[in-house]
Amino acid sequence: MNEEFFCKKCNNSGRISNRSIIRYCDCVFGKKLKKPKFNVLFQKSNLPQELTKLTLEDFSVYKNHKDGKDFTKDQMAQKEYAKKVTQLYEKQIKKAILKNNIILPTFNGGKYEGNNLFFYGGESSGKTMLSVNILKNALCQFNDSLAAYYMDWSDLVTRVFPFNGEWKDILDLTRNTGILCLDSVVDGGIDSKHVEARITSIIKYRLLKNKPTIITSTYSPLSFQQTHHLLEPLINKCLKIKLNDSIDMSKQRRG
Ligand SMILES: [Zn+2]
Repeated sequence: MNEEFFCKKCNNSGRISNRSIIRYCDCVFGKKLKKPKFNVLFQKSNLPQELTKLTLEDFSVYKNHKDGKDFTKDQMAQKEYAKKVTQLYEKQIKKAILKNNIILPTFNGGKYEGNNLFFYGGESSGKTMLSVNILKNALCQFNDSLAAYYMDWSDLVTRVFPFNGEWKDILDLTRNTGILCLDSVVDGGIDSKHVEARITSIIKYRLLKNKPTIITSTYSPLSFQQTHHLLEPLINKCLKIKLNDSIDMSKQRRG
């Protein structure tokens, strides 16, 4: 008789239900169900496809991956720090998503306590890549689409615009997701009071509940402070991670 594998835990269904909570079994059948679900989760989380394939191994601390030029000693130190913070954050991601503060080192050897990160640096400095890596980690650990959500800043600004039928859904998603990434934030103002109010409500809510947010920008934190940007209260609470020389608009404005 052909003896096929039979899993007593899930009766080969791949699912185990326990008081209405359904989880995947760790047998082959559970794994089969789990894999496509991750692809769906990645899509639901709005992560940029091309970046979900990269891992931290692809983040070079020695040379610019675009032009192949070696980094200077200072640049290498910045990259190494950014990578280290990402790894330390990922190790404590559950804690952060459960709305707790975590402790991370600052670049100058100090201590940061909180759960928000601000990555800044020029084009292709790796800021989005590191953020996406953290979001991916969150999805893998929580197995839930609400664990992480990615949003490009310009996309957010357009999608919460009045008369856009989906703005309530976007507000709901960005407020409630476990960890939110706002990518490529620019330091300019927004010419709609409604949009400003909606984004402010997202930020206020997340700060109030201590929900972690990751911001990336080509602009330095100083430029946001000087323009009293609507994200300023959140940026003030972020651990600032410089990836390379960012555009410091404040210098130009002062002149
Ligand atoms: Zn099973």
